[in-house]
This record gives sequence, structure tokens and C-alpha cells, in this order.
Amino acid sequence: MGKEEEYDKLVKEIYLCRKCPLWKTRTNPVPGEGSLDAEIMFIGEAPGFHEDKQGKPFVGQAGKLLTQLLKNIGLERSDVFITNVVKCRPPNNRDPTREEIEACSAYLDKQIEIIKPKIIVTLGRFSARYLYEKMGRKFTSMTKERGKILEGKLDCCDVKILTMYHPAAALYNPKLKDVMISDFQKLKEVISESNKKPKRTLLDFIGQD
Ligand code: URA
Ligand code: SF4
Repeated sequence: MGKEEEYDKLVKEIYLCRKCPLWKTRTNPVPGEGSLDAEIMFIGEAPGFHEDKQGKPFVGQAGKLLTQLLKNIGLERSDVFITNVVKCRPPNNRDPTREEIEACSAYLDKQIEIIKPKIIVTLGRFSARYLYEKMGRKFTSMTKERGKILEGKLDCCDVKILTMYHPAAALYNPKLKDVMISDFQKLKEVISESNKKPKRTLLDFIGQD
């Protein structure tokens, strides 16, 4: 099965999903959007009001900021893949529970397996904690971990995890917005490093012995 086909199948499953109680109160599930060939994946927390109405991730105010931060480093939303740990909106935007994350995370795992990103940017503590724990690491706190890059192996592939604040937090605190702007600069550096081909010298062509 090609990856488009595999991904369509996954989206259909998410639409029919009743693995946790959030299906009862959602308007639309929000599987995610972007390129299946993306090298960078952004993972937020859960859909909010507008995302639930439109069935698309990060389309409210926090999403506008995310789009702007991407633009600042020369990226369009369609260059990356954007999703959340939990695919249905928790009522009144409450935090997702451990049980909901556990029930829903198989979908995120499958998305990572299909897309095989080189870099995963976690937005907020829920996605950061989920990925840290997946790599057998303990997530301490956002203040300690943000801006750090965790290199490791997931079942599908080697990835770099870059931990960032959630853009919704930055909307309320201009200081955090500045931090996010500089974390996006860091992301830009990580991208250009990972795109650098190993240097080849003449010796590689003619042999060294
Ligand atoms: N906040 C999130 O974590 N995800 C969204 O999709 C929107 C707001
Ligand atoms: Fe299913 Fe996830 Fe929605 Fe719960 S949040 S119903 S597990 S898709």
C-alpha cells in the first residue's frame, strides 16, 4: 500500500473512532494536515473551538501565530505536517486526560510511521511528554526542556525532537513569543544542518589507498 492510501485509511478510522468519550462532544475530528513527504512535523495538544468546527488543526488564533512563525523562517504550512496528540476537542478546551492520550496516541504513532519526519517539533507539554516517554526519557518541565533537541530512535526512524512552548501560551505572554521566535531560528538551523550532504572530497572519488 502506498503512503497516501495508508494515510486515507487512517483518516477514515479516526472519523469512525469511539475509543474514548471525546467522540460524543466533538463536531469534527481533526486528524491533521500537511505534506506526507514533510521532513518536519508539528505536534500540538488537542483541537480547540475553531479546529473542531473546521476539522483542521491550528486554524484559530494560536494557529495564526504558528503560521506566522513558520513564514518567518521561510516555510509554508503545506511544507510541513501539523497535528495534535489528541484528535477530538476536549469540552471547553480542558486538558486531555492520560486515558484520552493513551486511547488516541496510536493514530499519532501511525502518522509518524507513515510520514517519517526527520524533525518533530512539540508544541506544549502534552506532546513533549508523550515523545519523551516514548524515547524512555522523563519530561521534567517546559522551562527546563524548551529549546532542547532530543535525538533518538522511534520505531520508524531516527528523529530530532525540538521542544517548544505552545503558541497559545505565547499569545498571552509576549516574552514567550520572543522565546518562540528564537526557537524557530533554532529550528531553521537544525533544518539546514540536516539537509547538508556529507562533504565529499576528491579522495572519495579516487579511493584512498
Ligand atoms: N491548540 C492545539 O494544541 N492544537 C490545535 O490544533 C489548536 C490549538
Ligand atoms: Fe478516538 Fe482520539 Fe477522538 Fe478519542 S480523541 S474518540 S481516541 S480519535
